[in-house]
Amino acid sequence: MSAGAYVRGGARQGAHRSSGEFSEHTHTEAGVTLTVNEYADKTPSEIDEVLAKLFNDRARLYAYLERPAEALRNHEAEMKYRAENDGNARMARHKLNEWNLRSTTEEVARYRKEIADLDAKIAPIDAEFDARGGWSRFFLVQNLGGHVHSSMSCSTCFPTTRFGWLTEQSGMNEEEIVELAGDLACSSCFPSAPVVDRRNPRPNQLETPEGRADREKREAEKDARAKAKAEREAKQAAAAINTPDGEPIYDSYRRPFKNERTAESEAIGKLENAIYWDGVAGDHEYARVVGEVLAGLAHKRGIDQAELRTTWIEKTIKKTKSQPNRTAAEFRMGKIFDAADAYLAKKGELKYALDSAAGAETYEAAKIAWEEHIGARKHPSSRY
Ligand SMILES: [Zn+2]
Repeated sequence: MSAGAYVRGGARQGAHRSSGEFSEHTHTEAGVTLTVNEYADKTPSEIDEVLAKLFNDRARLYAYLERPAEALRNHEAEMKYRAENDGNARMARHKLNEWNLRSTTEEVARYRKEIADLDAKIAPIDAEFDARGGWSRFFLVQNLGGHVHSSMSCSTCFPTTRFGWLTEQSGMNEEEIVELAGDLACSSCFPSAPVVDRRNPRPNQLETPEGRADREKREAEKDARAKAKAEREAKQAAAAINTPDGEPIYDSYRRPFKNERTAESEAIGKLENAIYWDGVAGDHEYARVVGEVLAGLAHKRGIDQAELRTTWIEKTIKKTKSQPNRTAAEFRMGKIFDAADAYLAKKGELKYALDSAAGAETYEAAKIAWEEHIGARKHPSSRY
């Protein structure tokens, strides 16, 4: 629970107040009266868990009550002033019209009733606490490095301190709580707590049930995000295409192909164009895209380039419905494949030249030639 001033006062007594009554169910049998509290069989921890929830609800209702209660108080003060001052207004806006007065009054009554109902549920818990002579209760200050205290009225805290109730530890003794709280045990509440040794920190193992639920939710969300990211990356990696050396393959606009599918359809598109227009056979871009994608994809799939070539030819013929001119189509595609082979051979030469370049100028020239060839830099013949 996140408790404000309300629970703070109550902590002095353990709970917020003691009613002195603890008869929930009274059985009268042959002149013998037994009083049975529904909490009699519960552990301090179980009882405090219930109480913490009730306090939480109560704090929320008080927060809801605040605005209408103030509106009503202002209205009453204004009407009193007017009655005593010949009907003159002091704060005209404080007077509620008839409809607002009725609805605000009803709202206040509703919240008060709900609070009273909660108090009726809290009473037997207080009674059980008193009947057992009380038990230990512990509170964790709700900020980073907040300490663990044995009450919310600890002199080291402030009226604005926000406490979380460690209901799971209710009833523990000082030794147990000090062990669990580590360096966060308040030395005022727990005189036996060892002095903090910064070189030898003792971790805190305590968290409120709400704090744990929040943390687990955050962690689950974080895990889900990490998992989704890993899946995305695995998917991207599975879809990616590179040269057999793991280098990018560039499209005709000098952007690396991000996935295999796009690269393959680009290469097949070039073969398709080649069927219609023989003139592209000498185009560097055609040779480069077909050659690079062929080598990269065959490598990725672990097949021969010749096998992939056959697949592409069949796909392209099917796509262009060129069965009647199959021989012509294969001949034109063959020219592109030859150009692709020449491209890859030239690439090998340029790579060798780059790797063996001596002197800055030679290296720079080799690098430019290499980059133009592989499409990382605009090729002199490129139309794009
Ligand atoms: Zn303390």
